Amino acid sequence: MNKKDDKLRISILGSTGSIGTQALEVVDDLKGVKDIEVTGICGGSNIRLLEQQARKYRPRLAAVADEKKAGELKTLLADTATKVLAGEDGLIAVATEPSARMVLSSIVGFAGLVPTMHAIEQGKDIALANKETLVTAGSIFMDAIKEHGVRLLPVDSEHSAIFQSMQGGRRGEVKKILLTASGGPFFGMTEGELKNVKKADALKHPNWSMGAKITIDSATMMNKGLEVIEAKWLFGVGIDDVEVVVHRESIIHSMVEFCDKSIIAQLSLPSMKHPIQYAFTYPERMPSPDKEVDFGELGSMTFFRPDYENFRCLSLAKEAGLAGGTVPTVMNAANEVAVGMFLRGEIGFLDIADMVGRAMDEIKPIKEPTLEEIIETDREVREICQHF
Ligand code: NAD
Ligand code: MG
Repeated sequence: MNKKDDKLRISILGSTGSIGTQALEVVDDLKGVKDIEVTGICGGSNIRLLEQQARKYRPRLAAVADEKKAGELKTLLADTATKVLAGEDGLIAVATEPSARMVLSSIVGFAGLVPTMHAIEQGKDIALANKETLVTAGSIFMDAIKEHGVRLLPVDSEHSAIFQSMQGGRRGEVKKILLTASGGPFFGMTEGELKNVKKADALKHPNWSMGAKITIDSATMMNKGLEVIEAKWLFGVGIDDVEVVVHRESIIHSMVEFCDKSIIAQLSLPSMKHPIQYAFTYPERMPSPDKEVDFGELGSMTFFRPDYENFRCLSLAKEAGLAGGTVPTVMNAANEVAVGMFLRGEIGFLDIADMVGRAMDEIKPIKEPTLEEIIETDREVREICQHF
């Protein structure tokens, strides 16, 4: 490849999701400013959208996790040059497409782990939205990043903010990370009130429009727990060096406090297109069509301490992060199962934390797991949780 060629060739894992579709909007926004080619797209099952994306962005590869749907997409795209692939092998092929320089990891949940690991092994830079991968396999993931000398750029808004704020000092001068949380739709409620909340209420996030799983994680505050562990791996800090600060307006996306007690923060209106664009253009900044913060209109910003008692998922995640080994893997898998059950109306809101806590109590952890042991633990937890 020509060294001077700074075209961004990117494969998008989970191109049909909330992050994936916004990433393609960023590709459109950057037209004329940055040369970008979409080399691969993939998703779980939405073949109509994949067809539209393939026709517009002309990727070399398109993959669908669902094998039967892949056959249908193949027929739909028969008149194009895009090759259609199926199943996990298809996702891996998109993640390792030879011309891709960067892979946006935005499949939701554990399903994103194996394709992302393959991308790293093939020397692709990673723009990481999928926090579950780092939570479940942080040590192995970070070792692979180092071993293959690739860049890891955070897409989660808080971690992008921390990454940007870190540029205000040296690593050794960092005192702590202040991870902001909106508090979600149930901020201020007690367990007694949370007992009867419904799926429709949990899906109404005050500031962000996101996929269903992360929206429920935001309502239980598990999302913030996952993000504490994500920050630990991304920035090489201890779990106790990450302080969660509830900030209802989601304007400050996170902050870093340095040893002289100076705090550097990143602010912008809540839009995932900001962190996605920064991951795509880093180390440069490029113009964005997004609206800017109008402080006069905003008026005030509010801050609170998190409620670890009523939002037990946050405490459980911190506990898992401190324990290490496969404990975060168990916590993450149980949470994925529980959130799925809650979304299907099979369990109540507070049962999510119960299921996570029970799985963490009952499953014997492995201290320094291999990738295979992590995959096996994830499978085992999913099976056990079905019988709770
Ligand atoms: P989403 O549900 O909107 O999209 C998920 C994508 O993954 C879709 O393309 C779907 O087809 C695909 N997918 C799901 N299961 C799959 C499987 N088994 N195999 C292959 N593809 C599969 O989710 P989202 O909100 O875009 O979130 C994606 C990831 O980004 C999550 O890990 C989430 O925590 C993280 N994230 C999202 C946001 C946000 O604003 N949406 C913010 C920060 C981080
Ligand atoms: Mg976030």
